[in-house]
Amino acid sequence: MHILIIEDDPAIATNLYDFLEARGHSVDAAADGVTGLHLAITQHFDGILLDLGLPGMDGITLCRKLRQEAHLDTPVLMLTARDTLEDKLKGFEHGADDYLVKPFALKEVEARLVAMHKRHSGKVTSRTLETGDLTFDPKTMSVKFAGSGVKLPPKCIRLLALMMGEPGRVFSRKELESGVWGGAQETSDTLRSHMHELRRALVRVGGYDPIETVHGLGYRLITRARA
Ligand code: CA
Repeated sequence: MHILIIEDDPAIATNLYDFLEARGHSVDAAADGVTGLHLAITQHFDGILLDLGLPGMDGITLCRKLRQEAHLDTPVLMLTARDTLEDKLKGFEHGADDYLVKPFALKEVEARLVAMHKRHSGKVTSRTLETGDLTFDPKTMSVKFAGSGVKLPPKCIRLLALMMGEPGRVFSRKELESGVWGGAQETSDTLRSHMHELRRALVRVGGYDPIETVHGLGYRLITRARA
């Protein structure tokens, strides 16, 4: 999993970082709320560990902005020193998915992250996605464009499904590669050739290309049909 730690206590952050990395996760960390929010929005994470008391921007505000302004549903596990009902309710109200009170066992942090991720991926993959003229059914792994079925290899389907999850948003090469292949690829040719194949198949079936290349940044799905 790709995990983001937003925690200003260096001892706790280092503990979490070392433990999760040793368990095979890819980890990023931020020591203040503003940097944390920026990372959470600009990169793809499977889970966020969020401290409540942070310099710059507190955890509750960060969570609210992530959900309401950036429209991201990345699973958030809140970490706090205060075990009060009011704090928990506030966290959930602003979009946190789960809660742990300090001090916590590192193994429990990981178990909760994995459980959140499973629930989240189950939720994401069980519903049919519809964007403009595109439909993706994860149960049958089938894609329809402008009412007709599109035959695509599995990697191209995953690429499209990933972008359909957040239409209009620019996905970087790194994000798409880690979403489809599980990590950055050595050359950009892999992504480019799959993207080319996907776009060609869509044009053939629907008569236009719903994917836009955003130079220097990545790709995005155009939300409204042009045809
Ligand atoms: Ca703190």
